[in-house]
Amino acid sequence: SRPLCIGIIGFGRFGQFIAKSIAKHGRVVVTSRSDYTHIASEMGVTYVPLSDPDTFLNQGVDVIIVATSILSFESTILKLAPSLRSYVDRSRTAPLIVDVLSVKEHAREVMLQHLPKECDILCTHPMFGPDSGAQGWNGLTFVYERTRIDGLIFDPDSKELTDVFLDANGNTHYIHEDNESHLVAIDRMERFLSVWEEEGCHMVPLSCRAHDEYAANSQFITHLMGRILGTQGLSMTPIDTKGFESVLKLIESTTADSFDLFYGLYKFNQNSMQTILRLQTATEDVIQNLKRMEREEEEKQQDQQDQEIRAKVGQP
Ligand code: NAP
Repeated sequence: SRPLCIGIIGFGRFGQFIAKSIAKHGRVVVTSRSDYTHIASEMGVTYVPLSDPDTFLNQGVDVIIVATSILSFESTILKLAPSLRSYVDRSRTAPLIVDVLSVKEHAREVMLQHLPKECDILCTHPMFGPDSGAQGWNGLTFVYERTRIDGLIFDPDSKELTDVFLDANGNTHYIHEDNESHLVAIDRMERFLSVWEEEGCHMVPLSCRAHDEYAANSQFITHLMGRILGTQGLSMTPIDTKGFESVLKLIESTTADSFDLFYGLYKFNQNSMQTILRLQTATEDVIQNLKRMEREEEEKQQDQQDQEIRAKVGQP
C-alpha cells in the first residue's frame, strides 16, 4: 500500500509535464543530462544528475520512466543497463521499466535486448503532450503494452490482444496466472497504470506493432502536415476562416515539439516512409485532377467557339 517511488529519466519538455501530475501519486525522483535542480525543487521532486545513475537508483525507485528523446533512447538504455545490473544484484529488487516513446516497436526491441532479465517492461505512449494535456488528462488516450512480466514476454502474434505471454521455451502463459512472483509483478504494473487511470486517461491496451501502424497514419501524418505547412510562412490575416485558424493551430502545436521528436517519428517507425510516399502520390493526384479539369474546361470552350464559327459560315 506504500505509494510508488517513480524515477523519470529525461526531464525535458515531456518529462517535466508528466512529473507534475505523477508527483500527486507518489514520490518522484528525476535525472537528466541538463541540470534541472531549480525546476525540480520548485516542483517538489528530487533531481539527480544523469552522470550519477547509482545515486538515482539508490533512491529506491519502484518504477523508472524513460522519457528521453527517441534518438537518444538506445544510448540511454545502454548506459543505464550496467548500473541497473549491479543495483539488481545488490538490492535483489528490479524496478519496472516504462518508456513513453512516441514510437513503440523500437522501444520494445531495445528494452528487451538490453535491460536485465529481472526487470519487468511496460511500453506506453500517452497520446497527448504539454499542449493538448495542459488542462488535465481527462479523456486523453493512454496506450500501453504489458511487454514483460516476471520473465514472460507478451506475444505480439496472439489474436487476444493483451493476455498471452510466452516463456523462453515458447510456452504460453496467461496474465491471470496465480504464481506469487507473477502476481507481485502484475500488482506493481497495475498500480502504475492506475496513476494514469486516476488522472482520467482513456486506457487502451495495444501491441507495439499495432500502435506503430496506426500512429504512422495519425500522429506522424499530423506532424508531417504541420511541418510542411510551417515552411509556407503562413500567418493570421484580417479575413481568416475557421479552417485557416485550425491550420495555424496545427502548425503551432506540431512545431512546439522538438525536431528530434519529429525525426524520431520518421526514423524509428518503419511505416512512416509509406505515409510520406502516399502523401506525395496524393499531392500529385490532386494537382493532376486540377490540371485535367482546367484542360477539359479549355477544350469545351474551344469546341464552343468552333461551333459558333461554323454556325456563322453556314457549315454543319
Ligand atoms: P525530445 O526532444 O524528444 O526529448 C527531450 C529529452 O531527451 C530531454 O529530457 C533531454 O534531456 C533528453 N535527451 C536528448 N538527447 C539526449 C542525449 N543524447 N542523452 C540523454 N538525454 C537526451 O522532447 P520531449 O517532448 O521532451 O519528448 C521526450 C519523450 O517523450 C520522447 O521520447 C517523445 O517521443 C515522448 N513523448 C513526447 C510527447 C510530447 O507531446 N512532447 C508526447 C508523448 C510522448 P535534457 O533536457 O537533460 O537535455
